[in-house]
Amino acid sequence: MKLSEDTLLKFVKGKIIRDAELKNFTTFKVGGKVDFLVIPQDEEDIRITLSIARDKGIPLYIIGNGSNLLVSDEGVRGIIIRISRVNFNKFNLKNSVLKSESGVLLSKLISYTVGQELSGMESLLGIPGTLGGAITMNAGTNGFSISQILREIKVMDKNGRIKVVSKEELGFSYRSSKIMEKKLVILEAVMELKKFKKDLINESLKRNFEKRKKTQPYSYPNAGCIFKNPQEKQAGWLIERAGCKGLRVGGAEVSTKHANFIVNRGNATFNDIVKLMELVRKRVLFKFGIELKPEVLILGRDEGLPFKMLEPW
Ligand SMILES: Cc1cc2nc3c(=O)[nH]c(=O)nc-3n(C[C@H](O)[C@H](O)[C@H](O)COP(=O)(O)OP(=O)(O)OC[C@H]3O[C@@H](n4cnc5c(N)ncnc54)[C@H](O)[C@@H]3O)c2cc1C
Repeated sequence: MKLSEDTLLKFVKGKIIRDAELKNFTTFKVGGKVDFLVIPQDEEDIRITLSIARDKGIPLYIIGNGSNLLVSDEGVRGIIIRISRVNFNKFNLKNSVLKSESGVLLSKLISYTVGQELSGMESLLGIPGTLGGAITMNAGTNGFSISQILREIKVMDKNGRIKVVSKEELGFSYRSSKIMEKKLVILEAVMELKKFKKDLINESLKRNFEKRKKTQPYSYPNAGCIFKNPQEKQAGWLIERAGCKGLRVGGAEVSTKHANFIVNRGNATFNDIVKLMELVRKRVLFKFGIELKPEVLILGRDEGLPFKMLEPW
């Protein structure tokens, strides 16, 4: 690695953690070390970090709250920029238009907008991500995705240029967008909400909450749905019918509550989880002829895994 901590420390005002344990920055609680974790204080910190990585040819990744990530135990070489709720946390409302920085947690935006009798964000209840992560993944539930309420985002491109991009340019589809492919850091987003009766929004929140409580595993660390729903059927239905519920490899288990969740029962390794994913993929393929594709993003070295890894910038 041609990068010394001093180079980053000299220019970046935010926090820099050398050899950061990534398991502490993901909801799965799995993952080795990254050479440098940068928690930028402002846009300038992001620009400088991008330019250092570019000039020195260092692999770089962006993360939010780490709730859709599976990180290798071998760790990650290079720099990870974490856009966090600590510094990218401001938002404001004008009429029904919400403008927010990308590090804000969805839960915060939901409780704020519901308090303002605005509907739009409440379907995202229970998704433990930042706004930036949710937009990148086009997060949602039950037919709703965040792109439906999005108007535009402010981004920084890999050369440090800031621009506003409309949602039409971002190629949103089910749990996907072109943000990773275009190598954009989301800084801010503008969302259009609708005035609605608070009681009705609260009812919908309550329904969503009860459903999640009943159907999703909260006792063990996880990264939400492991596989995307294929067009034919819900992934959870296929996995359950393929006899995978409760299946275990080491400390990883296909949740007995929701078959499309893999839970870390305390000491799961990256390899446990990937092996279990592969077992599930093969069983579903064998039984239904349907190929499951991961929704969780896999970060680390490519060791001939059957799943695509997240590519560095
Ligand atoms: C218990 C649980 C329940 C879940 N339920 C749901 C659900 O119902 N629906 C759903 O869709 N998902 C769900 N998820 C998955 C996950 O929470 C979402 O995908 C979430 O939107 C990810 O946000 P994050 O901030 O954690 O992003 P991360 O996991 O940190 O990153 C995800 C992707 O976003 C990119 N990214 C993050 N921030 C930025 C930024 N500022 N600029 C550019 N790129 C960025 C990263 O590069 C990465 O590619 C669940 C997860 C858990 C643990």
